[in-house]
Amino acid sequence: MLHIKSIPAFNDNYIWLIQNNQNLCAVVDPGDAEPVIAYLEANQLELVTILITHHHWDHTGGIEKLVAKYPTITVLGPENSNIEHLTHHVSEGHRINLFNEEFLVLNLPGHTLDHIGYVGDGKLFCGDVLFSAGCGRIFEARQSKCIIHYKSSPFCRRRRRCTVLTSIRLATSHLPWQSNLITSSSMNTETVLIKSELRVSLQYQPQFV
Ligand SMILES: [Zn+2]
Repeated sequence: MLHIKSIPAFNDNYIWLIQNNQNLCAVVDPGDAEPVIAYLEANQLELVTILITHHHWDHTGGIEKLVAKYPTITVLGPENSNIEHLTHHVSEGHRINLFNEEFLVLNLPGHTLDHIGYVGDGKLFCGDVLFSAGCGRIFEARQSKCIIHYKSSPFCRRRRRCTVLTSIRLATSHLPWQSNLITSSSMNTETVLIKSELRVSLQYQPQFV
């Protein structure tokens, strides 16, 4: 069984920590190494893996320090990216064995072109793609490209078969839900759809450490 915790960083980032029963753990998008190291040492955990969703500094800024402190760890990240210190590049369809749980990699372009997500243990680690009642800003792709990709992705095909999304929890990298809901109060068709999508999923509530 895996245990999922969130480590707060910066103003509103969450660095997700995935831990097994043997005190081994992975972290997702460590933008800052200090809170991660503090948590690992306080809880006597051994870091073995870093999962990266995209290249933004608030998701990657802590990699260098963590690799220096734990030189044997594996660092997984997007295939089409120049992020330093990655030991493995992954993309859509790759399956990762993490503590005997299978995690599927999804390409999620839009917020950035290199953005990927990891689905496993009933959760989607979706970085800056989805938030509660909203989604990440699209910086590097046209909206149409994102929608075309989404409709053709295995994740969406599974959703149409109603087999996955209703039971998956979202592990987002920020939680700007209050401002999103305020924005959504003047909603157009698009935000209605987004809210409808999110209603069928469960928002994974961060547990502060
Ligand atoms: Zn970002």
